[in-house]
Amino acid sequence: ESSDRPLAYVQIISDLKPIEGADMIEVATVLGWQVVVKKGQYEFFIDDKLDRNNFRIKTIKLRGQISQGYCIRLTTLETHPHRRLTLHSDGTGEEKHHYLTDEDTKEQISLAIGSDLTSLIGIKKYEIPDVGVRLAGNAGPRGNFPSFLRKTDQERIQNNPHYTTSLADVDFEVSEKLEGSSVTAFYKDGKYGVCSRNLELRTDDDTATPVRVLNGLGVGELLSKYAKNVALQGELIGPGIQKNIYNLTSHRWVVFDVYLIDHERYTTAAERIEILNEINYPDRVPVLEKSWKFGGKTVGEVVKMAEGISALKKGQQREGIVFKSNSLGRRGDPVSFKAISNVYLLKQQ
Ligand code: ATP
Ligand code: MN
Ligand code: MN
Repeated sequence: ESSDRPLAYVQIISDLKPIEGADMIEVATVLGWQVVVKKGQYEFFIDDKLDRNNFRIKTIKLRGQISQGYCIRLTTLETHPHRRLTLHSDGTGEEKHHYLTDEDTKEQISLAIGSDLTSLIGIKKYEIPDVGVRLAGNAGPRGNFPSFLRKTDQERIQNNPHYTTSLADVDFEVSEKLEGSSVTAFYKDGKYGVCSRNLELRTDDDTATPVRVLNGLGVGELLSKYAKNVALQGELIGPGIQKNIYNLTSHRWVVFDVYLIDHERYTTAAERIEILNEINYPDRVPVLEKSWKFGGKTVGEVVKMAEGISALKKGQQREGIVFKSNSLGRRGDPVSFKAISNVYLLKQQ
């Protein structure tokens, strides 16, 4: 299952700083990210080519400097291994607009800030294959993820650094981010359903791990008794899933969100707890803070907060934390974002 968020995009390097004791490298700031780059690469031209070999971009530390990403100059896009692309610019200064022309098809590819270059570069999300669990069972999925629900996803704080100021007055709940697989159970107009992150599953197919686990927990009965159009979203954790970092011997489905189908919105933390109490579903995500504000914290300080021990397992570093506003935002849902622990990322790989 793949996520559809952009993995490569056009962005401005807002800062370039030296790294103490390093002659060959320096650190670039892109949005809220720190990326180690070759020294001088962004001041004068260095002949760089789009790599034809596969490599994985992960969180690393170089000379004590964390690096989370990979930068290439726009001119490097002209070295595309399968396409004849040429770079053009229109306008001047602030108004300057860059684009690529495909010399064979004459297609124009915009390089405006934020443009998604994931498919152009051919970059894919690295996923550890889950072993011993079947997200869809023998009978295959029932179909696509229902359009009346929303897929679970959280944006990293580094991609929205302005939150530290624009959401300065907003009150947040902070919960632990669990490392497993997203599973949604819903009840709509008398019908019960189960979904993996991207698909709807067959509720009668016990060979699909999420279906088997939720059947064992009696989730269908609980939702039918509640009899309102609602979806519970939780993390399936346990043997065979994402390295089972909590060392569980059997599966758990830990609910982190409740979605109100008829209102087309997520609940606030208070509403979520009330509904889960009413449904009588006990396994819920650990809440670290009920009421938290940025209070002048920088992106770096928020990311630092993600570091810590999991509430689920003694001595295990947690994956991270998720922030959800306690009031509804402008779009009608609580505002949410995540911070992933760099200690966890550096240990994991
Ligand atoms: P990435 O996409 O960064 O590789 P990922 O697959 O874990 O990682 P993310 O987009 O990072 O997905 O994070 C969102 C996911 O986190 C959700 O799909 C959900 O399954 C999971 N999650 C775990 N704990 C929580 C929580 N407390 N609140 C919300 N989502 C959570
Ligand atoms: Mn994601
Ligand atoms: Mn995950």
